[in-house]
Amino acid sequence: MMQPIISVQNLNHYFGQGQLRKQVLFDVSLNIHAGEIVIMTGPSGSGKTTLLTLLGGLRSAQEGSLTILDQEIRGATKQHLTQLRKNIGYIFQAHNLMTFLTAKQNVRMSLELHARYLNQDLDAMAVSMLEAVGLGHRADYYPDGLSGGQKQRVAIARALISHPKIVLADEPTAALDKQSGRDVVELMQKLAKEQHCTILLVTHDNRILDIADRIVYMEDGRLVSDGKSAIAAVK
Ligand code: ADP
Ligand code: MG
Repeated sequence: MMQPIISVQNLNHYFGQGQLRKQVLFDVSLNIHAGEIVIMTGPSGSGKTTLLTLLGGLRSAQEGSLTILDQEIRGATKQHLTQLRKNIGYIFQAHNLMTFLTAKQNVRMSLELHARYLNQDLDAMAVSMLEAVGLGHRADYYPDGLSGGQKQRVAIARALISHPKIVLADEPTAALDKQSGRDVVELMQKLAKEQHCTILLVTHDNRILDIADRIVYMEDGRLVSDGKSAIAAVK
């Protein structure tokens, strides 16, 4: 069996200090393998975003073990986490595009973080990535001039252009109508399969569960089931 690309063992997480300290993740264990598409679902407040941000190196792990791309994250330094984050693409519920940059400039920005692209034609690469998400003709538009689905497709282009090994998406279809939501996840699925990248996607959207190789279900800070049986829990 291959080494998992993300390995979580007995992870606990707390917010707040002293009397206000509150545990929000309880003994979470989860292995995700390269190329897998995993959907995480469960009620609001169950800890999905907290777990996703831990897995993305966006906050540091407190208790338990968390290995991402063969590196132990618990106790990792800020520099170490920054380095790790270059291998991860993020897609959030709100697209988080820079409103003062065009679609092309937003996508280009994520290449600028990587020394390996330094001497390449970043504009041409950004435009070709926008073409891949069906937005070549909108490359010079600002986010305000794009629809919700189009903005989310720019966010996908931005997340995937640097070929990250892992893509983490937090309710990426929440602000979209049914058809645009479907289009957006199918696009993520297609690009990820082409790049052999791993996806962990948090969603409440029952209509997109079929793109997953595996579904995990969170409740009250615990991972209560891991496998296809979780589909039954959300239907
Ligand atoms: P979900 O994404 O499943 O809706 P979250 O991970 O956002 O759940 O939240 C899990 C719990 O942690 C909730 O009770 C929430 O209120 C709490 N929480 C989330 N973020 C913070 C924070 N920064 N400070 C304190 N409590 C938080
Ligand atoms: Mg959330």
